[in-house]
Amino acid sequence: PAGVRVEDLRVEYGATTALDGVDFRVEPGEFFTLVGPSGCGKTTTLRCLAGFEEPTAGAVSIGGESMAGVPPEARGVGVVFQSYALFPHMSVAENVAYGLRFADPPAGTTREERVRDLLELVDLPGFADRDPDTLSGGQQQRVALARALAPEPRLLLLDEPMSALDARLRERLRVQVRDIQREVGLTTVYVTHDQEEALSVSDRVAVVDDGRIEQVGAPRELYDAP
Ligand code: ADP
Ligand code: ADP
Repeated sequence: PAGVRVEDLRVEYGATTALDGVDFRVEPGEFFTLVGPSGCGKTTTLRCLAGFEEPTAGAVSIGGESMAGVPPEARGVGVVFQSYALFPHMSVAENVAYGLRFADPPAGTTREERVRDLLELVDLPGFADRDPDTLSGGQQQRVALARALAPEPRLLLLDEPMSALDARLRERLRVQVRDIQREVGLTTVYVTHDQEEALSVSDRVAVVDDGRIEQVGAPRELYDAP
């Protein structure tokens, strides 16, 4: 897994300042969460990490390498968004295999074996031939996670991946995501507006407000009385 460094990131959309100098570091293997209200700049930060957005100013490095001008597919980053974004005309296995379109399977493994291993990792063995729309929301999110993990990313980016689910499924899925993240030892940047979710799942949390990071710390450092 890679560490991440974000330095004085600024993003402007016309007259709107989405990011007003965002700084943080994520340690290799850490589960790091950006939490804050809608519109505070969480998704924009993630898009800069993924390479979907070029910042107006500032720098992103992943694994000690500058990401300036590096396209998304060359960053070694896996991304899961809140909407499942599975391809409805492809089977579950084909959706997961799509994650390997820019990458070879790990040495000594075929694509078929890799897809099977990933479906086991997300606890969906036997789902390979199913159509995505026959799966529950939580199951679809786990397929999206398997697809993101397929090329062995060095960084996983999760943007409100649970928000379309009801409270009970959210709780279950976040435990599963955390277990998988630990098992794989993957550096993860997670975005949510849900403070309780952020505190329960993260190694460290950054509190974002109005395009800036107000506070960073381990969950129990952040909201406990001094
Ligand atoms: P969050 O993910 O925390 O809800 P965003 O990063 O999506 O916040 O948005 C931060 C700010 O940037 C908001 O004011 C939003 O309206 C604005 N913004 C985001 N994307 C665009 C865009 N493509 N064009 C114009 N403004 C945008
Ligand atoms: P969701 O995350 O949407 O709840 P789940 O697959 O977790 O989807 O839940 C659907 C049902 O299938 C639950 O009752 C769950 O216990 C069961 N289930 C999920 N995975 C497995 C599995 N690998 N083997 C057997 N039962 C499973």
